[in-house]
Amino acid sequence: MTVTAIRYEPVIGLEVHVELGTRTKMFCGCPTTFGAEPNTQVCPVCLGLPGSLPVPNQAAIEATIRIGLALNCQIASWCRFARKNYFYPDMPKNFQISQYDEPLCTDGWLDVEVDGETVRVGIERVHLEEDTGKTLHVGGTTGRIHGATESLVDYNRAGIPLVEIVTKPVAGTGDRAPAVARAYVTELRDVIRALGVSDVRMEEGSLRCDVNTSLNRPGEPWGTRTETKNVNSLRSVERAVRAEMRRQAAVLDAGGRVIQETRHFHEDTGETTAGRSKETATDYRYFPEPDLVPLAPAPDWVAELRASLPELPRLRRRRLQKEWGLSDLDMQAVVNAGAVDLIEQTVAAGATPDGARKWWLGELARRANEQGVELAAVGATPADVAQLQALVDEGKLNDKLARTVLEGVVAGEGSPAEVMAARGLAIVSDTGALGAAVDEAIAANPDAADKVRGGKVAAAGVLVGAVMKATRGQADAKTVRELILSRLGQA
Ligand SMILES: [Zn+2]
Repeated sequence: MTVTAIRYEPVIGLEVHVELGTRTKMFCGCPTTFGAEPNTQVCPVCLGLPGSLPVPNQAAIEATIRIGLALNCQIASWCRFARKNYFYPDMPKNFQISQYDEPLCTDGWLDVEVDGETVRVGIERVHLEEDTGKTLHVGGTTGRIHGATESLVDYNRAGIPLVEIVTKPVAGTGDRAPAVARAYVTELRDVIRALGVSDVRMEEGSLRCDVNTSLNRPGEPWGTRTETKNVNSLRSVERAVRAEMRRQAAVLDAGGRVIQETRHFHEDTGETTAGRSKETATDYRYFPEPDLVPLAPAPDWVAELRASLPELPRLRRRRLQKEWGLSDLDMQAVVNAGAVDLIEQTVAAGATPDGARKWWLGELARRANEQGVELAAVGATPADVAQLQALVDEGKLNDKLARTVLEGVVAGEGSPAEVMAARGLAIVSDTGALGAAVDEAIAANPDAADKVRGGKVAAAGVLVGAVMKATRGQADAKTVRELILSRLGQA
């Protein structure tokens, strides 16, 4: 990678499609529930039947303006929808209502953090369009059209409002281009989630990303770019940019020419393969959509939407970092672990920030990693973690026992208090109950006992260890130590 950066400068661009979480579709009243029986959420408008007319969804327009405002964009006072003409079997009208030269939001930016530095990513445009249906190729082994015996089409998704967010070209990031791409999509996802306008789930396709990549030699004009599709996770965004940088560098090194085309990213191999050669805008024969009047958001309404924007993720993170008293590095670790919300909720449930952070970034992060799941899906809730920490603070559990209790919580055995009761895990500090174990430890370790009697108090550690072992870690170490010293005449 460093070799690539010395010889070539990357320029990247990101096109993100976000399915809005509106109750109904963009131009009709059909519901938008994910996972419904195929072709049960359709009507003459979204099936493109003759004579049907579209009616814009105000909630979708409002959501798009809010996204534009959160991304520091200008909001058009007047703009139009356009017809984008192309044939696709899962697009019943043979055109898509989109926006072309008159997008709703333009010229904004989003700041992202990479390696502790702020990179400002310019936003070219945010526009509103409708989604296509879905085609399913069956009978083959890969789910692709090649080798399939038949293809099925589901129009439930056709007409769901889709917001497209296009960055300006991002140059000058060198080796960090893949990380910048990932940080941008992550931040954008968090902004949109904070606005509450989409569930932005990459795995369900409600956030989809295409990455444009080109390379040029330092000082020379930008190179030919490729557009990589099928980038279905945040990790893949980073890998796809890296794969394209590597591939294009090899092509250029060999004296070849990069072809403008769409490419497909493959999760399994981490490589991209050629798709179709890229259409240009003129191929789509855009023209203003004749069935819709122009869109002219009232300035008062836009001002109202601006005033009601929620606290955005970057500012929220800064506020929490201050409240939790964390260094930049510590806060970055919390963000990278996806633990901001979890720690905030754990603190709200009564834990100290340090206590909450310790469990989420330690034991629970380790388990999530082992199981290959998100931290939020690890099986413990913020309330569980707050209760666990309270039990430690009250002296009812030590760290070792708390980890055992947490194991039970994660395994679904109940709350920490319930696991503690069911498994009989609690610190024993009753001197009567511990006395016998202490006597046994002294009898079994006469040398250590003699040393303590002779004034070498440090030797008591061996005896404390023996008692802890005999009580399977459940003895209160402080009480044990006091008992030993008292038995051996040192207290
Ligand atoms: Zn419909």
